[in-house]
Amino acid sequence: MSDHFHPETLIATAGVSADAGHNSVAPPLHLSANYYWNDPCEKPQYDYARSGNPTRAQLEEALASLEGAAKGVITSSGMAAIDLVLNLVDPGDLVIAPHDCYGGTHRLLTARQKRGHFDVAWVNQTDPVALEAAFARKPKLVLIETPSNPLLRITDIGLVVAYAKKCGAITVADNTFLSPVLQRPLDLGCDIVLHSTTKFINGHSDVVGGAVLAKDAALGEELAWWANCTGVTGAPFDSFMTLRGLRTIFPRIERQQATARDVVDALVKDDRVECVFFPGLESHPGHEIAKAQQKGFGSMFSVEFAEGVDVLELLRALNIFTIAESLGGFESLVCVPSAMTHAAMTPEARATAGISDRLVRFSIGLEHSADLTQDIFAALEQASSGEKTVAYFPGRAASKCA
Ligand code: PLP
Repeated sequence: MSDHFHPETLIATAGVSADAGHNSVAPPLHLSANYYWNDPCEKPQYDYARSGNPTRAQLEEALASLEGAAKGVITSSGMAAIDLVLNLVDPGDLVIAPHDCYGGTHRLLTARQKRGHFDVAWVNQTDPVALEAAFARKPKLVLIETPSNPLLRITDIGLVVAYAKKCGAITVADNTFLSPVLQRPLDLGCDIVLHSTTKFINGHSDVVGGAVLAKDAALGEELAWWANCTGVTGAPFDSFMTLRGLRTIFPRIERQQATARDVVDALVKDDRVECVFFPGLESHPGHEIAKAQQKGFGSMFSVEFAEGVDVLELLRALNIFTIAESLGGFESLVCVPSAMTHAAMTPEARATAGISDRLVRFSIGLEHSADLTQDIFAALEQASSGEKTVAYFPGRAASKCA
């Protein structure tokens, strides 16, 4: 399929009617672990599924076309994608990472640093002075996560790239929160973009996966070499499911972000809400940068509730939102990062990152905005009343205790 088509068309047609063997319209799922050779001297295109697999290749190509990459690697998880990229640095090299990144990323970098694999400089990447000081240390690789998880801080990708280019550092953007529908970091000068495809890319909360996509073919080949060497490539079935989920990403994201905006607009007016972290709000410090580098503001936001609100009680009292750690699916999810997604960080690291115990993160799905808003306000009423809730199923069908 030609690259001059719109991305919606590329995704709707990826791998469609390409099966010469049986003329199947939907791309077939190839589960075979290995592939036969016609002759011991003629290596086939695919020989062993860790190294390459037709189903995984279709997802790789579809994602690479969406992100504007030359070459992609599909990994078994988002963490595997981040770890894959870390093969590009050597002991003694410096990695710059956001001080408020996803807790699992923080844990991985901290653990590898402790083993002496590389050094890490944790930086508030929204602070140009801190960025300049960090780049003076000549990093080998810089990891950007924008909007950040869970505070939705916006990093100026172009600014980081400019610093990185001066010292020859590799720039890697974790684009999980927005997807290529809303942001294309490679167009802004990054060398690599990665995803937890578990989130918006698959969008159906039934696959854990990741992707690493490189602007430059040689860098992509180097990453593919490491992926085969370390065995972090994704399973064919997961790729099949993820490509299936990816086909609806444009309408999903459009609808989810419109709903998130409605819910945010209702929440900002309430006295029990201290702060809503949503880059779509003009009061958000990263609003102008987000407007310039993103095509939309997404469907993730976090809320810092006022002192009188028991946030754990609030979660228990919600009926439509499910208490869960992931994000980006068709269903609305809610979490308290300090107790869940970011529990792996030390309390000190969370305090430095600004993640308080009263912070609640929302991932908005495909439900109706009026129902979601009503659900939050009903739960807020309960969480501010001092009454206790019994949740029959966590996050669902809650009733008041006497
Ligand atoms: N990057 C971000 C921004 C995430 O939020 C997550 C998971 O929540 C990951 C990476 C890790 O992805 P996975 O859970 O697929 O390993």
